[in-house]
Amino acid sequence: MKQTNLAIVVPCYNEEAVLPSSATVLKKIMYDMIDHNQISSESKILFVNDGSKDKTWSLIQDLENEDTIFTGLKFSRNFGHQNALMAGMKVAGNYADAVITIDADLQDDENLIPQMVASFQEGNEVVLGVRNDRSSDSSFKRWTAETFYKLMNQIGVQLVPDHADFRLLGRRAVETLMSYHESNLFLRGIIPQLGYSSEKLYYQRKPRLAGETKYPLKKMISFALDGITSFSVAPIKAIMSLGVVVIVISLIMMIYALVRFFTGNVTNGWASLMTSLWFLGGVQLVGISIIGEYIGKIFAEVKHRPRYIIETDDYSETQSQSVDDQE
Ligand code: UDP
Ligand code: MG
Repeated sequence: MKQTNLAIVVPCYNEEAVLPSSATVLKKIMYDMIDHNQISSESKILFVNDGSKDKTWSLIQDLENEDTIFTGLKFSRNFGHQNALMAGMKVAGNYADAVITIDADLQDDENLIPQMVASFQEGNEVVLGVRNDRSSDSSFKRWTAETFYKLMNQIGVQLVPDHADFRLLGRRAVETLMSYHESNLFLRGIIPQLGYSSEKLYYQRKPRLAGETKYPLKKMISFALDGITSFSVAPIKAIMSLGVVVIVISLIMMIYALVRFFTGNVTNGWASLMTSLWFLGGVQLVGISIIGEYIGKIFAEVKHRPRYIIETDDYSETQSQSVDDQE
């Protein structure tokens, strides 16, 4: 059987604090798998530098010089986690048989990697890492995540709860994924739509080794909103129901106002007028902003701008060189 050419894709944004130790851990796992003939010696660890402002890129270059198993991809600026994953998978998918994505802080259990590869070799095109326990997260993060999955489920978006971006995709799945051209990327929503035979492997999530989270609350909320609005029009439908409710309330208000008018107590009407005015104004603003959110998404999609810009691609360079060498 042909040995699997594996690529591990690691998105990195300001990860100088954690990169050296993560690199050592991943390298050991790779060499163990190479020694056991599970994967080919051409396999690579591909760091995607997502426009880091610290020494991340020079650290990646040092690693490349230290060992050819390391290679790097550099964006011209910050394009975000999901785009870094997409770029890494696209570039690696040109040569590798299977691509694993894992965060630079190694909060996901890297010891699952050999099992993921084994599962791929047994014929699974998609292997998802799923957390079976969130005790390392703050209770706030746990609560927001739980609410998010519940909400997504209710509005009809199929997600695998507690699966983030730790997964293996075979080359075929990567190619299929690349045919999703949306600029508003929410990978964990797209993956279940790919189909193919898949397996879930469970693990315990660890705390971050070093450095800080790159997902503060503000980014988390906008990521969640992206997830909802890229996959569901439920919010637009909700405005419709809200509108009906408001009309019913305003009819009741009208009857109330008329009754007050005929009983000759008109000055009282001011309160009801003001309340309905403000209430309706608020509802309309919410409605417009939700619709605006979708129009914004459409705007971003129709422009068809590149999802990311690659400044340096050492992975493809080394791969095409080794092809040249063989010729
Ligand atoms: N990341 C990235 N670009 C960004 C933000 C984050 O490539 O704009 C990377 C980051 O380096 C890490 C991964 O995405 O490898 C997940 O980020 P983090 O661990 O900070 O998120 P958390 O685990 O706290 O949700
Ligand atoms: Mg993390």
